[in-house]
Amino acid sequence: MQLEEEQMSNSVMVSNLSSLPSEIQELEALSKNFYWVWNRSTRKIFEEIDFKLWETTGHNPVILLQKVPRARLEDLARSSEFTSRVNKAYANLAEYGSKGFLNTWYQRNYSPSSEQLVAYFSAEFGITECLKIYSGGLGILAGDHLKSASDLGIPLVGVGLFYRNGYFSQHMTSDGWQIENYPENIPHELPLELVTKPDSKDPLIISVPINARQIRIRAWRAEVGRVPLLLIDSNLPDLNSREDCDVTSQLYGGDIHTRIQQEILLGMGGAKLLEVLGFSPTIYHMNEGHAAFVILERIRRLIEDPSNPASFDEAKSRVSQANVFTTHTPVSAGIDVFDKSLIEKYLGWYCARIGINLDTLMEMGHDGPSHGAGFNMAVFALKYSNKANAVSRLHRAVATKLWKDVLDKKQSGPNNLSDLEIQHVTNGIHTPSWISDSFADLYDQYLGKNWMDSMDDPAAWAKVEGIPDELIWRTHCVEKSMLIEYAFDRATRKDGNSEGRNLSRDALTVGFGRRFATYKRASLLLQKREDLARLLGSNSRPIQFIFAGKAHPRDHEGKKIIQEIINFAESDEGNGRIVFLPDYDISTARRLLQGVDVWLNNPRKPLEACGTSGMKAISNGVLNFSVLDGWWDEAYTPETGWAIGEVSTKIPRHVVDRLSESNDKSDAESLYNVLENQVMTEFFDRNENGLPTKWITRMKRSIVKDSVRFNTRRMVIEYARLLYFDKLSPRPVAQTTGELGSSLLDEAAFDWN
Ligand SMILES: *Cc1c(COP(=O)(O)O)cnc(C)c1O
Repeated sequence: MQLEEEQMSNSVMVSNLSSLPSEIQELEALSKNFYWVWNRSTRKIFEEIDFKLWETTGHNPVILLQKVPRARLEDLARSSEFTSRVNKAYANLAEYGSKGFLNTWYQRNYSPSSEQLVAYFSAEFGITECLKIYSGGLGILAGDHLKSASDLGIPLVGVGLFYRNGYFSQHMTSDGWQIENYPENIPHELPLELVTKPDSKDPLIISVPINARQIRIRAWRAEVGRVPLLLIDSNLPDLNSREDCDVTSQLYGGDIHTRIQQEILLGMGGAKLLEVLGFSPTIYHMNEGHAAFVILERIRRLIEDPSNPASFDEAKSRVSQANVFTTHTPVSAGIDVFDKSLIEKYLGWYCARIGINLDTLMEMGHDGPSHGAGFNMAVFALKYSNKANAVSRLHRAVATKLWKDVLDKKQSGPNNLSDLEIQHVTNGIHTPSWISDSFADLYDQYLGKNWMDSMDDPAAWAKVEGIPDELIWRTHCVEKSMLIEYAFDRATRKDGNSEGRNLSRDALTVGFGRRFATYKRASLLLQKREDLARLLGSNSRPIQFIFAGKAHPRDHEGKKIIQEIINFAESDEGNGRIVFLPDYDISTARRLLQGVDVWLNNPRKPLEACGTSGMKAISNGVLNFSVLDGWWDEAYTPETGWAIGEVSTKIPRHVVDRLSESNDKSDAESLYNVLENQVMTEFFDRNENGLPTKWITRMKRSIVKDSVRFNTRRMVIEYARLLYFDKLSPRPVAQTTGELGSSLLDEAAFDWN
């Protein structure tokens, strides 16, 4: 592709931070690196500048510094205590960014001279709440992957899309119906810098051809600790038509035409962008199939290499060697499939350009009748990847079955590709981003200041056993009180109804927050309405529930479930002890997972490929109560949490075959049974000082046993060892009996996780 660099006529706004008092000038640099998301002392500085403004800006340090009254900044600049903290935070960031590079996990384990670089492509990134370019677990995982890669010193660059309107924010009508708003992501109000041409101050503009058309893109660069994240943006009104400007306007919005163009910009545009900027990735990691068109651009480049032009077959084979593909959905309906006319419309030019016919291109994303006639992005990614992984042990078994045809054909096929086995790297969470200040302080004290760097060391976590019962309980209660106050304020805003009126610090508090995809069964609890009403009415063993979550804008059923929950919350039966918190996002998730007693998850097994929200609970001392699906199937022990439904380490055939509503009924029975007879019993069992000692023992066991494993530090190390840098070393296959039928996989069209 010809590279066209054009002058952009409307230059971006100059930063207005140049007017910061010189004593605290470093605040600008601190605000521009997302490191503050997981660096407590920096975050505390922003909070202290103006707590109210920090809250109303949605935790956005750039707007905070733009809006805070000048007099306040001048006051702070006169405080030597404050300025020295700013200086220290800045020195800390500088050290993390440069000097610290020399003593990272990566440097200790890999030759510093090797020129490795991972390009990590994802359609969404959840770094923090103010950068609204994520919708759910897939994005959060990508954000946490970047942060841990940064902490570990792994050379990695992220590539994504800059959505002008991002994912929607959720508002509720008075009768409990979800309304979507699309607030604008304004680049100069975010910690982003416009990417310029190499050796120049002019914005870099790249053209991505789409048949007769060229879509112009620019890119924004976010600093995520040491890791750069490049976000592609087609909103260039002077260069693009209105429609082309809108290609990158919404995450998972628009129609199938929008989707394929977004994916062309992400994959092909992303590959070009990296090349122009001088990045030479040795690994291309596709986080789900959305970015798989990166393969096409790289094939083209090899074929058109003037010094050593490759044949089409050669190019395919060489490109595949550097590809890693992570599959996230066990549901084939959740994957993009483009029919032939779409491929022709948007990629016909490509075929002509490299001299293949359309059927040859179609065949690349096709594997016989089992996954439909169209061009399937996951099939495409799998066919042309050297390594692939699922996101939990159980998901590996499901995915291996789902993609059996592709895997079989690949092993015996004509492409000379290496055998592909789907491995698994169980997801994690970036603990420093999800831990409450109270627990982080507690760990500083009992585990040592550097506990965040030894998160994968069981000996470090074992020290949690030494925290006095009363102290760990009180620490939890501080976070719980804050959550309840917050939930109370949010819920009682609508007057005249009882939602959340009787929330109490003494009640067992159960949280449920996630996307309202049908398979996640947010309303399972409501299947036994009388039992629920009875539990909520009890004053001797008070229990309360806090719900949150968004339904996809086109998911009518999901919206009905939200409405059902809200109606119940407002009814007399709800007894003021149920709340639905609107606009679930990273910030709400953090509050919930730091403050509830129990985190509930009840998906239809095995449709939750991994799930990560429950992992955020662990080191906050919150206990998991979940169906044995995804990660919980690996983690659960009777000493650390509770299981809903059948307890079995295998995936017997009947579990899969029963994925009907009849399974809902038995799972609901099990949920109530365990909740009443185990969870509640243990919570209300108090000693003479009012402490739930058995519960506290369970909290500690859960922290000690699971914090060490379910974090992205462990996860990214596994990616590095298994998929990025080392020779593939197969691990034992998860135990499975029985087969997984494909009949189950027809729902959850909105599942993007
Ligand atoms: C962690 C998180 C998710 C993913 O949660 P699951 O339990 O995997 O569905 C989704 N949304 C937000 C805002 C999160 O923080």
